Amino acid sequence: RAKELGRDAMEVFTAELANRAHEKLERQEELRRALALGELFLQYQPQMDLATGRIFAVEALIRWRHPERGLVSPGDFIPLAEETGLIVPIGDWTLRAACRQNRAWQLSGLPPIVVSVNVSARQFQAKDWVERVATALEESGLEARYLELELTESLIMQDVQQAVETMHRLEQLGVHLAIDDFGTGYSSLASLKRFPVGRLKIDRSFVQDLPEDNDDAAIAHAVISLAHALQLRVIAEGVETREQVDFLRAAGCDEIQGYYLSRPIDARALQAILCIPNL
Ligand code: C2E
Ligand code: MG
Ligand code: MG
Ligand code: MG
Repeated sequence: RAKELGRDAMEVFTAELANRAHEKLERQEELRRALALGELFLQYQPQMDLATGRIFAVEALIRWRHPERGLVSPGDFIPLAEETGLIVPIGDWTLRAACRQNRAWQLSGLPPIVVSVNVSARQFQAKDWVERVATALEESGLEARYLELELTESLIMQDVQQAVETMHRLEQLGVHLAIDDFGTGYSSLASLKRFPVGRLKIDRSFVQDLPEDNDDAAIAHAVISLAHALQLRVIAEGVETREQVDFLRAAGCDEIQGYYLSRPIDARALQAILCIPNL
């Protein structure tokens, strides 16, 4: 009897596993189709220099316009894309689309800005990654200095030696590098000084409870002075309120990004913002 129960349970378990594997395959197929059918698109979120009030850069953020589910955010499909390797063609598409869009803005006579693109570990670790970046620049006609790549600490820490080497090759191309979600990973101070990056992005989790939360205030101060000690610029992400802006400005933060300025918006809407000389 116990044996039978055990076997039944095993059958249920196996069926459940098969079910889940099947669902995942379907979702993967759906995502592959999304890329092929042009259901993926980019929104852009402006970044402002606190000293001048100028919008000097935008971050490209991927979205999926799903035929039934509507707008799907990257948190709901990037993990699957990373797991299945689909992030490589998807990331390639993102990179090329962002370069092309930035070049189009320049050609339309807008003041030149930097476009910042998020990079996943699988992309960064691909043998031909640096060539892919060079190709995206060539195809679009965008100068390298108008492209920035955002790398997370955890991506870099997977293989510091390799990452530093790749970062140097990217630096030679002339693109900018930033560390995204700074403070949520584990990069040591010793390794940080070896990274050829231009800026640190303070993660939103340290910004959201500013200025009231004393711990977060201390962390923000520490990251800002660390960045400046290493001659890096520092941007706060997820800035939503006037109080946060005032705090960050007083703390010496260089730049901000967040709903306070603008949510991520379509290329056309962004173009209108870029026409305003100073916010
Ligand atoms: P991230 O790179 O840290 O991007 C910032 C996220 O914070 C974005 O979420 C943005 O919409 C959101 N955000 C910006 N300002 C505010 C604010 O004031 N308040 C709040 N509550 N949120 C704010 P999103 O677009 O959902 O992207 C989530 C993550 O997905 C990104 O985090 C990034 O890690 C990843 N991602 C987005 N696009 C791409 C992509 O093209 N490639 C890769 N590999 N990852 C991407
Ligand atoms: Mg980012
Ligand atoms: Mg970030
Ligand atoms: Mg973040």
